[in-house]
Amino acid sequence: MRLIDTHCHLDLDAFDDDRAEVLARARAAGVESILVVGFAPERWGPALRLAKTEPGIVVAIGLHPTEAARYDAEVEAGIRAAAAQPPVRAIGEIGLDYHWMTAPADVQRRAFERQLALARELDLPFIVHQREAEEDTLAVLEAAGSPLRGVMHCFTGDLAYAERCLALGLSLGIGGAVTFRKATQLHEVVRQAPLDRLVLETDAPYMTPAPHRGKRNEPAYVRLVAERVAELRGLPLEEVAAATSANAARLFNLEGSEATV
Ligand SMILES: [Zn+2]
Repeated sequence: MRLIDTHCHLDLDAFDDDRAEVLARARAAGVESILVVGFAPERWGPALRLAKTEPGIVVAIGLHPTEAARYDAEVEAGIRAAAAQPPVRAIGEIGLDYHWMTAPADVQRRAFERQLALARELDLPFIVHQREAEEDTLAVLEAAGSPLRGVMHCFTGDLAYAERCLALGLSLGIGGAVTFRKATQLHEVVRQAPLDRLVLETDAPYMTPAPHRGKRNEPAYVRLVAERVAELRGLPLEEVAAATSANAARLFNLEGSEATV
């Protein structure tokens, strides 16, 4: 079985003590590729170093919306330079976060728009982080013009929102939330969305799936996400693993030798 974790933060110090064991458990669970998202300039180097020392790791680089106040010409030049490195397969995570509101909405919007334009210019897909900003996020994406090549990371919206994202050409990143019993709205989305538009993720060390809630998340747990998606769709686990991995490989161009174990 082949699984791909399309969103995790394996570069963070939460994994400094046992990163090798975490990677070994991921491989034992069938995880073939891991996309490590470097969400701020000081994370790009560690994420890229990980990709260079470990097989099966690729990288996204970008400025997270909670960091949007830092966006300037220097950051943009940094993204451009880092994106030229082979492990970089996406721009992200980018978007709007009105929960933490660490920068005013218009500042967040500008950083989001600039990075979407950069993704298009560099011919890379993008990863969207959206929190309590559904309408504004869609407005920016709609204005960016289709077709869009990207994923709505940690998707937790309802079916109507999912349909609007899908209509723009986007994929849905399904993570640990799908394992929560009360996430009925998300369960409905996972049942109804076209299987060829779902990709799986952990967002480790965050968003830990059941039954490990309250503990650190890790890429091996993407299997728990796959199992719940399979259950919801009434499909064998192997079929969901194969389909979502093919989707991720297509979206993030993962067939290159360095992208798989
Ligand atoms: Zn993330």
